[in-house]
Amino acid sequence: GIASPTILVTGGAGFVGSNFLRYMLPRYQSYRFINLDKLTYSGNPNNLMDIRPYSNHSFIQGDIGDPDLVDSIFREYGIDIIVNFAAESHVDRSIRDPRIFVQTNVNGTQVLLDSAVKHGIKLFVQISTDEVYGSLQDEGEFTELSPLAPNNPYSASKASADLLIRSYSNTYSLPFNIVRFGNTYGPSQHPEKLIPMTILHALNDQPIPIHGQGLTIRDWVFVKDNNAAINTVLHYGKRGEIYNIGSGEEKRTIDVVHFILEILNKPKDLIRFVEDRPGQDYRYANNPAKIMNELGWKPEYSFEEGLYKTIEWNIKNKNWWKNVNKVKEHI
Ligand code: NAD
Repeated sequence: GIASPTILVTGGAGFVGSNFLRYMLPRYQSYRFINLDKLTYSGNPNNLMDIRPYSNHSFIQGDIGDPDLVDSIFREYGIDIIVNFAAESHVDRSIRDPRIFVQTNVNGTQVLLDSAVKHGIKLFVQISTDEVYGSLQDEGEFTELSPLAPNNPYSASKASADLLIRSYSNTYSLPFNIVRFGNTYGPSQHPEKLIPMTILHALNDQPIPIHGQGLTIRDWVFVKDNNAAINTVLHYGKRGEIYNIGSGEEKRTIDVVHFILEILNKPKDLIRFVEDRPGQDYRYANNPAKIMNELGWKPEYSFEEGLYKTIEWNIKNKNWWKNVNKVKEHI
């Protein structure tokens, strides 16, 4: 290990990345964190407000796909580790407009990899998804050895990045870990995603659009558990290994929505079934046995606990996503 590494966190103004900084900054005050984020529609400066008091990090607005910028960051700060969260992250958007997904998730990752190799980085942690494995029927789970079989442009772009990293390891001896996690939820997630969308629509008595009949099955991980897992891999992961993160909390989408409506005491007739996603994946279930057995991580939040925390947060922060562009002008 490195005593006090400088860590480039990309996408740190987004949902998982900002929660990661919130998790790491107080715990590792001797480390330095550089947050590189383009502030796309899903990057929110509000996500960075409460970590401002920590002096062990800086924010740079910019694109991971900009080779001059990325290289200048390496030269100026001497990056030891990258944790790459930056991505286009929404499947529905990737179906409408795949181009930006390839640009950021594939080309952007490749730019980071080039600088990482050129400057001899100690570790590249790629944040990936169980969606790279495609879809399951009712039986079985994904392991790290499951074949890659992505079914939509988002998951294909993430799988492509994972393969590039593998190739950089083999060709240029890049030290890496890939962390693949299931559906994540928690405070400050963009309201285009199922759980915050349902909570906010329900609070405002607005219709809640649900794909198909809501019969897809997802494995839900609370964001803090996820960040603990990423931290575990960063410090103790065996280099060159892939780790799946999952909670075993498998839920049908419709049951998640019913559960939220019940907690908020809102009627089920807010639900509107809308046309299913083309090529919709039926089920994801990510087996975390490897990280649990080899590195000792385990999830601490039940789905119920995590969901209560997420609902509470959304009630307190109803305006988090309003005026985001105005906030951006002031950072
Ligand atoms: P998000 O959309 O909330 O955040 C993405 C962040 O990346 C934003 O702050 C955005 O401004 C930034 N970004 C986008 N393009 C960029 C670019 N070209 N250069 C620099 N920054 C850029 O997404 P999230 O949910 O926080 O996901 C983070 C990572 O975790 C992604 O890599 C995603 O694939 C992965 N992941 C997420 C989930 C989930 O359920 N949220 C599940 C599995 C994997």
